[in-house]
Amino acid sequence: MTFPRLGVIGGGQLARMMAAPAAELGVPFRVLAEAEDASAAQVAPHVVGDHTRVEDLRAFAATVDVVTFDHEHVPTEHLRVLEAEGVAVRPGPDALVHAQDKLVMRAAVERLGLPNPAWAPASDLEDVLAFGQAHGWPMVLKTARGGYDGKGVLVLADADAARTSAEEGTLGQWLAAGVAPLLAEAHVPFTRELSAQVARTPSGQVAAYPVVESVQTDGVCDVVTAPAPDLDPAVAEAASAAAVRLAEALDVTGMLAVELFETPGVGPGFQVNELAMRPHNSGHWSMDGAVTGQFEQHVRAVLDLPLGDVTALGRGTVMKNLLGGTRKDLHTGFAEALAAHPEAKVHTYGKGVRPGRKVGHVNVVALGERTLADAASAAESAAAVLRDGATPSDPTQEPRP
Ligand code: ADP
Repeated sequence: MTFPRLGVIGGGQLARMMAAPAAELGVPFRVLAEAEDASAAQVAPHVVGDHTRVEDLRAFAATVDVVTFDHEHVPTEHLRVLEAEGVAVRPGPDALVHAQDKLVMRAAVERLGLPNPAWAPASDLEDVLAFGQAHGWPMVLKTARGGYDGKGVLVLADADAARTSAEEGTLGQWLAAGVAPLLAEAHVPFTRELSAQVARTPSGQVAAYPVVESVQTDGVCDVVTAPAPDLDPAVAEAASAAAVRLAEALDVTGMLAVELFETPGVGPGFQVNELAMRPHNSGHWSMDGAVTGQFEQHVRAVLDLPLGDVTALGRGTVMKNLLGGTRKDLHTGFAEALAAHPEAKVHTYGKGVRPGRKVGHVNVVALGERTLADAASAAESAAAVLRDGATPSDPTQEPRP
């Protein structure tokens, strides 16, 4: 074997979806999984270990040439130990900390002159009230670390709500748990959420995917449309440029997702929300909808191989997330969904169904006669059959705008 061996820390669905392109490229691939039945451990060579134990990380790293990640939870001090021992860690700890800590991220975005909402660290109720007074209500409070899918985000309507939350609510729990300093942010009156993804190699090659629209439901990514419909081309270009600038300035290797708020007429038309340094839910569309999907691109990028073409196919793609619903077993509706929607590309993660848990996604590419609206209704329908046993919608009966 002369190909470099790739190791992924974390056995979730992102590692699982890297396994197929790694196999196609012929890259030896291994996962450090949290459990024998983890999503990626079901499909890829793996060892079971704990990503918070440096001994487990060291033993795993010794079996591969390049280490990358399924998630952002590996302590940076452990990654520094690995780097000091000569392990290629991509992205490295100095980049990754910007995806782990939202206060560090905000400071970097500000330093680079990119558009942030007003923000400040907040260590107690006094700081929160002072921020609300200075920047207006409602305001947003976030834990700097450990938030995901809207957990760790608190919207405070006014000063009374802040006081009540500090006395008997989430703010009080956070302060008691010692997670301060928190991140206080102005509440952004955005029109929609966008995501700009780029890949960057250690040699410095970058490739920017089309900017996409991401619809969150209850704080969880629900539908992604790529490219973002009706996005002002100047805003799209500025958002891509901001993502490239962040990737270069922070020395990101692999995939970077920059989550954005669209703010027409304010600044460059967007503000940065947060960063993810790995393949991201807002890029799942590219598995079927771009010449090179984000998982293949991540593998290429972290191995310092030339990047693939990121052109979107057809009129674009709609991705619908499959969250756990009423059906306990996704296989019940599987054949029915595939039969009703041959145009749908169904991806499931081998995870047990729990209400609201991300267990798969459906991509439909708008090719040939199919419009983006057709793609959206087919993706919704296929997901509803799988999730809840809904009756498939007949695409020939769908009105076309
Ligand atoms: P997570 O780390 O859980 O993804 P985010 O920081 O992305 O947390 O916030 C989750 C959601 O909360 C966002 O998708 C957005 O809808 C809303 N939100 C976050 N920050 C703000 C803000 N400053 N103004 C308005 N809404 C916000």
